Amino acid sequence: MNWIGQQIGGLVDFLFPAACPICLGALTSAAPASSFCTLCTSTITPLPSGRCSRCALPFIASSGSSHYCADCSRELPAFSAVYAAGLYSGAMKQALQRFKYAGAVDLDQPLAELLYAQIPPDIDEHVIVPVPLHLSRLRQRGFNQSLLLARALAHNLQLTLEQAILKRTVDSHSQQGLDALQRAKNLNNAFVATRRLDGCKVLLVDDVMTTGATVSACTQALKDVGAMNVNIAVIARAPRHGNG
Ligand SMILES: [Zn+2]
Ligand SMILES: [Zn+2]
Repeated sequence: MNWIGQQIGGLVDFLFPAACPICLGALTSAAPASSFCTLCTSTITPLPSGRCSRCALPFIASSGSSHYCADCSRELPAFSAVYAAGLYSGAMKQALQRFKYAGAVDLDQPLAELLYAQIPPDIDEHVIVPVPLHLSRLRQRGFNQSLLLARALAHNLQLTLEQAILKRTVDSHSQQGLDALQRAKNLNNAFVATRRLDGCKVLLVDDVMTTGATVSACTQALKDVGAMNVNIAVIARAPRHGNG
């Protein structure tokens, strides 16, 4: 670039500084090697070491000992492990809400990069499968947030994306008015896999994991068609309340 080009580039940077994709504040040159500003980065909390060794539920007393939560002790979930970029709080929560409800779809890559950093490097031979949306919800939102994240993650991990294997046949909108037990029962029949996956290892991708009911139902559908092992990758892990 010639001298005039450099001056114009500098002026453009000065007039239109790159914005943090979460808070939309200016990304200063002092920001660390992150897609987010220093302030947002500081409120992204990794999962505590005190968490369920199966479903990654954060324990209130965050001692480092490894054990199962009450639910997993009662009945182990069908999935093997949960990887998460962080807790569903602070800037992470804000980012996911902008991504999902305000159409900030360009957050897919920065969020997937945070998740990628938490996935063990020896994960290989897995196929990446997103949690599907029901068709009516997809029409309403215009995109499946889990598919965008799964696509970006598959690119980072250099693994194959299988985006059409799982179908959601029951819309969770129709779950309103049902109690927790009825919801879980409904969810169990909400997903079907469209072809055999004999002996496959699957990394199932979703945006947020709360109760784990959704990823458990997807895991069951994948195992019903022969998947050998299913691991879960979510951007954020929430404490157990609400849906999902
Ligand atoms: Zn920010
Ligand atoms: Zn657990």
